[in-house]
Amino acid sequence: LSERLSGVFDRLTKQGALSEEDVKTALREVRVALLEADVSLPVARDFVKKVQEQATGQAVTKSVTPGQQVVKIVHDTLVDVLRGEGDPGALKIDNPPAPILMVGLQGSGKTTTTAKLAKRLKEREGKRVLMASLDTNRPAAMEQLAILGSQIGVDTLPIVKGEDPVAIAKRAKTQALLGGYDVYILDTAGRLHIDEELIQQAAQVRDVAQPRETLLVVDGLTGQDAVNVAAEFDDKIGVTGVVLTRMDGDGRGGAALSMRAVTGKPIRFVGLGEKTDALETFEPDRIAGRILGMGDIVALVEKAQETIEAEQAEKMMRRMVKGQFNMNDLKMQLEQMLKMGGMEGMMSMMPGMGKMAKQVEEAGFDDKIIRRQIALVQSMTKKERANPKLLQASRKKRIAKGAGLDVSDLNKLLKMHRQMGDMMKKMGKMGKGKMLKQAMK
Ligand code: GDP
Ligand code: MG
Repeated sequence: LSERLSGVFDRLTKQGALSEEDVKTALREVRVALLEADVSLPVARDFVKKVQEQATGQAVTKSVTPGQQVVKIVHDTLVDVLRGEGDPGALKIDNPPAPILMVGLQGSGKTTTTAKLAKRLKEREGKRVLMASLDTNRPAAMEQLAILGSQIGVDTLPIVKGEDPVAIAKRAKTQALLGGYDVYILDTAGRLHIDEELIQQAAQVRDVAQPRETLLVVDGLTGQDAVNVAAEFDDKIGVTGVVLTRMDGDGRGGAALSMRAVTGKPIRFVGLGEKTDALETFEPDRIAGRILGMGDIVALVEKAQETIEAEQAEKMMRRMVKGQFNMNDLKMQLEQMLKMGGMEGMMSMMPGMGKMAKQVEEAGFDDKIIRRQIALVQSMTKKERANPKLLQASRKKRIAKGAGLDVSDLNKLLKMHRQMGDMMKKMGKMGKGKMLKQAMK
């Protein structure tokens, strides 16, 4: 994709804001890439629309092409869509023994994932885990789990010939309770295709076990089919999370995006091989990079943006030491602060401001306040921003009203601006060159 995009954009040399045409051309390529990565058509279409809205009009970072910039926006949007709420690796397994139900088609990797998950819970969280195979369809399925269990040192429910899945689930529950296990994982039978019987059986087991987590195991190579499977399982059984297996293969992982978009269920884990330790928590960045095949471009654009920010800071610094610190500068600083996650990041760019950082922090300086302050600056006229001395009572009233705040809020902002300006001037006298150099380190 990256090559194709840079081809398209080599011809576009102009810099500045992304035009609608730029974005459209780039997104045509992106859409193809998504489809090639097995993202379903409606999902790809929706996604591209979303990116289009975000990208049009955005400023192009110096030293990257518009195409590269679009790719970065696509990547970020993709990560956003893929990311579920909360920590994907954190399973609800308090109140022992907590049942986990594994569902999915035959061969999707349920049994393997059951063992991987058991090993992870045992080793990382120190849980006592019991595994039980409910697969009465395939002749050697139960033995398969027992063998995996002995490999990883996790107990499996003893096999009783002739029992049905519901009876096994009941026995697993009793055993988990009596044996003092923290978690028990029920590995169900799958079918090659979804059918009534499979769903009915899974539903019965669910009703008996009342699982805390129901994980749908999906073969990451199956692409679009996976989405229908996920929707069906979620509809009939109720799924709390998805595990994508075979992500060590050649697949691009487009199923991940489709599945998130269609079911809204979080992807919790990713299977990366046949071995019992080949399970990782889901990381949206990695899958996004894989779907688009363009990790290097994202890194490039990020780097370029960092450089620009440093340049802006340097420019501002120069103005500051000359005593030209106006409201626009202050607004830019406030915006930087928001972006860098508060005071700390900003202070690292501006030496000598530690004391003020503390004061500001004590005053309860959080994102909400910063946003309000930005709103205040925004409701000033151009002239007022350049010369805050103009701000007399009536202007103050108008500005505060425009931002939906009180004059006292505005006064606080003005005081802060004055203090910062004074400090800048003092620092300027201390020696411009030295400080600037230090600041830019
Ligand atoms: P089940 O029918 O859903 O229980 O599927 P199995 O757990 O028996 O897995 C079917 C096959 O897929 C086995 O050969 C596994 O070793 C293999 N498998 C499962 N997960 C992965 C994975 O993440 N990567 C690879 N390469 N193979 C996997
Ligand atoms: Mg199995």
